[in-house]
Order: sequence, then structure tokens, then C-alpha cells
Amino acid sequence: MHGSPLRVALVAHDARKDALIEWAGGHLDALEQCEISATGTTGGRLKGAYPKLNITALKSGPLGGDQQIGALIAEDRMDAIIFFIDPLSPMPHDVDVKALTRLAVVYDLPLAHSPRAADVLMWGLRHG
Ligand code: PGA
Repeated sequence: MHGSPLRVALVAHDARKDALIEWAGGHLDALEQCEISATGTTGGRLKGAYPKLNITALKSGPLGGDQQIGALIAEDRMDAIIFFIDPLSPMPHDVDVKALTRLAVVYDLPLAHSPRAADVLMWGLRHG
């Protein structure tokens, strides 16, 4: 475990944004210690709900925000990704999810796509 703040990416597809807001609300103590990068709309929602969080809002996912997170991964400037994907609708920018998933594997970064996986991820980051 390193001393500097954990750098976490938070992203959610539209149908999963409420779930991410709720999840974040249950992890505010941990998230207040993190440097958070979020895609545009997700970041705006998170800032509105939890103004104390340290959030850098990137571009909206479909406009390049996912790729901006990919760049942070490639530059060793990211520790974990929490990306709540919508498993029930076809994703027009499915390729962006694939690209991000691939980079997370290349750099062996923890990646969670759902709330319970994100619980385990945060626990592991803080106690691992
Ligand atoms: P958004 O992007 O937070 O700007 O909606 C998320 C995504 O669909 O990748």
C-alpha cells in the first residue's frame, strides 16, 4: 500500500449511474481519500451528490473520456477502475469498454463492473 492518494476512475453507463451514485455514497470515507477521475456526465453527477470528493471530470465517455482514462492507465497514473456497465442494452460505444478493459489487463489494474465487485476492489485497495 503506498502513501500517496489512490487514483481511482469512476465511470457508469446511463442506466447504471444511479447505482454508482448509491455505491459511492456507501464508500465516502474511502473515496474522500482518493483522487478520482470520472467521465463527464458521471463526474458531474458525483460532484453534485458529493461535493467534498476530489473529482477531475474528463470528457463524456462516448466523446473520448474512456480513452482519456486509458491514457492515464498507460502513463501509470491510475490505480483502479470502477466502471458500472449496463449489461441489458446494446452499447453503441462497446469498443471503448473493450479498449479500457484490455488496457486494465495489460497493466494488471483492478477493474470492477458492478457494485459488489467494487466493494471487494475498494477493500483490497485499502487493506491489501
Ligand atoms: P459519461 O460517460 O459519464 O459521460 O456518461 C460514461 C460512458 O458511457 O462511458
